[in-house]
Amino acid sequence: MESLSTDYSLSLSYAKMIKPPLSLYCHVPWCVHKCPYCDFNSFQKTATDDPSNYTDALCKDIAHSARHSDSRALESVFIGGGTPSLFPEECIDRILDTIRLHYKLTQGCEITLEMNPSSFEREKMKAWKSSGINRLSIGVQSFNDDSLYALGRTHSGCDAHDSIEAAINTGFKQVNIDIMYGLPQQSKEMALDDLQRAIHYQTNHLSWYELTIEPGTKFANNPPHRPSEDIMSDIDELGQELIKASQLERYEISAYAKPQHQCKHNKNYWTFGDYIGCGNGASTKLTTRQGIQRFQKYRNPALYQQAPTHRCVEHFVDRSQQLFEFMLNHLRLYEPISLQRIQDHTELTHEEITSQCRTAITSKLMRRNEQWLNVTKQGYRYLNDLQAIFLNAEQTPT
Ligand code: SF4
Repeated sequence: MESLSTDYSLSLSYAKMIKPPLSLYCHVPWCVHKCPYCDFNSFQKTATDDPSNYTDALCKDIAHSARHSDSRALESVFIGGGTPSLFPEECIDRILDTIRLHYKLTQGCEITLEMNPSSFEREKMKAWKSSGINRLSIGVQSFNDDSLYALGRTHSGCDAHDSIEAAINTGFKQVNIDIMYGLPQQSKEMALDDLQRAIHYQTNHLSWYELTIEPGTKFANNPPHRPSEDIMSDIDELGQELIKASQLERYEISAYAKPQHQCKHNKNYWTFGDYIGCGNGASTKLTTRQGIQRFQKYRNPALYQQAPTHRCVEHFVDRSQQLFEFMLNHLRLYEPISLQRIQDHTELTHEEITSQCRTAITSKLMRRNEQWLNVTKQGYRYLNDLQAIFLNAEQTPT
């Protein structure tokens, strides 16, 4: 715990807060083209977009942001996007060198790169490994060429198989496969076939989630024909059975891992850890001497490259919102929530926390067991309603 010193501007509630683990996220903005379902902060790369110039800006940002680490070593690094695997190998190498130069890394620090399964990107795997990447997250989405075409993806099912095999053969011990279901024109059999093919590789991590239609995307303006609710629920039920029969365990609504292989980086977000975000649009959350602080970088890549250390939408999280922010992602995890942990990482007292949880408990969406809160089966089923209880609780005067 940080000492109070003689700075009387520090709130008493801050004095009890313990600094959580720290992660670093690096964002790369460009993709081959924009997928019709994607609402991420990503852009189709044009001839004038220069990865080397962007890497210069990103490295400046990474170096400048090291002051926020506050002597903590990084538990994880995640290079995401966009499609970071499109960047030349030397850019990824420079990013990692800059990180090692300016930050301490924990032993076993997880260093993930998101990759698109194309032949062009497969050839870079050896270079990524020698640069220090120790985990690959492969955006397979489907092994079926018709589904991939409907999703606007540029790779084929064969590319997906070849990339997973190449990752394993290159010696990556930690590999995540991303698969979506509920795709345009997808039958139950097609969805389960995709899942089975992913499980077959026995990688230590799987992300399996339903395609959602996000506002502002091409699919929102021109919705594709998707499986009915009934088929979707069959896919979910049968899919869970397939996964249960594998060595993977569900630890979050859409994340599955072999024991000891949960994604450290995402787990840190989901458990209200601190993170530094570098790159256009990247968000930072820090437990500081003045409270819980959040800020972002410019979303637009051109603006960001002109001022990579500039902070936008900077604010301290109001005390009335802290339980909602803590709960929003933590509720997605299949593990009990420690009341002590909430107290340690927010300014809230035990009484404030338990009084805000009362509605969730009386609605049977959560259960309290001494120092722990558990989401009930009903709670996972109606997760949006459960999250909304905490959203509304933020208006409750404390
Ligand atoms: S490749 Fe990924 S980040 Fe890029 S547009 Fe498609 S879904 Fe979005």
